Amino acid sequence: MGWLGLDDTDSLDGGCTTDVFQQLLNGLPETTTVGVPRLVRLWPFAQRRTRGNAAMGVELHSEDIAELLEHLDAWWAEHIAPLGGSVSTSEISAREQSPASPGMVWFDHQPSSAFYFSAVRQEVGLEELPPSVRSWGGHGRIGATAAVAWPGEVCTWEAISWRMDDAKGLRTVDEGAVSVIDSWPEIVFSRDPRRGTTLIAPRGRSPVLFGVRATSRHAAERACALLVDSEATEAVREWSVFQTNQASGDHLGKDWHLTVTDLVVEPHRKHARISTDGPLVLSYAEGGPVNALARWLKPGDEILVAGLLDPDGMVHAERLKLVSSVPRKRLRPLCSECHVRMKSMGAGQGVRCPKCKRREADEWVDIQGTPPFTAWVEPPIDARRHLARPLRWEDAEQKRQRVPNHEEQGAV
Ligand SMILES: [Zn+2]
Repeated sequence: MGWLGLDDTDSLDGGCTTDVFQQLLNGLPETTTVGVPRLVRLWPFAQRRTRGNAAMGVELHSEDIAELLEHLDAWWAEHIAPLGGSVSTSEISAREQSPASPGMVWFDHQPSSAFYFSAVRQEVGLEELPPSVRSWGGHGRIGATAAVAWPGEVCTWEAISWRMDDAKGLRTVDEGAVSVIDSWPEIVFSRDPRRGTTLIAPRGRSPVLFGVRATSRHAAERACALLVDSEATEAVREWSVFQTNQASGDHLGKDWHLTVTDLVVEPHRKHARISTDGPLVLSYAEGGPVNALARWLKPGDEILVAGLLDPDGMVHAERLKLVSSVPRKRLRPLCSECHVRMKSMGAGQGVRCPKCKRREADEWVDIQGTPPFTAWVEPPIDARRHLARPLRWEDAEQKRQRVPNHEEQGAV
């Protein structure tokens, strides 16, 4: 037995690592027993990244490893190596994209999960790869290795279906069947509750017809079968269910406990840049409640932030919580008799009630503000990362202990 990983075969001009991987599994020698295929999302800021930043892995059993490796050599040369170097065109997406640099790895045992946690949280170089029995290709070996190193203990499931080879243009998925599966408690992230739009179909050119995410393998299978079997859904080539680290929250280390020193809000888009006693914190307009709370902050406020450090050392806020806030206003006290706001008599002259003329010493009363949120907040569903774990799940499971990250100085 052993572990096979694959990554970085897709570019924006079509193609998709899930599809290339599925073909690879379909083509394996009949003597090979295929385990549960996995789809693993990695660090979103990786310098070289493909469209979805997802890598693939699977455990394989074979009586004849030599035959299997010979087969993988041939398959690599014929089907995967030629995918290298395809460059995206700017008319499809303005996003920066590296040419594909496919990579495939074979391990006779599962590598340490430490490699996975590095690759999901920070930049990892080829020189950091744990030694494999055999590897093929280029940069994709990093994601491929991370996919097999993923422990898989905290997981969700995604059923993916691929379109027929000649399918083009708009995707046709039975809306009625989508509404049915939306109501199942195990089906997650299938609909944007604010807009009422479905989130299962990818945008742009991709061989994927839809991906249905679920908290159980069985539900993913059942939902996918329902959609695929409906006459109102276009014909699919095939479909498969993947174990995934989506919604695991694995990309986040410990929370940052920071004091705000300055806040700049971009006038048009409302992105907020929060200067703190630690790293600069970015909150994007798309963050919804996170951004609303970020824009409310004042110097002196204390916050907890969960987010990733980007290559420039800035934290991208994915979750935000107010710990304490400084007063928003200072007012003169109310008259103890009339409950009318007292007025200053001039510098050092004390204050006086305008009604009963009663005088008091010069005093101020701090007025606390009313924050838009007092509990942890997260972006709306369509603005979250694939890796983001919903707060609601964590509340239910008492906030899972996160694996700490030594890079996060100042984290608590
Ligand atoms: Zn009074």
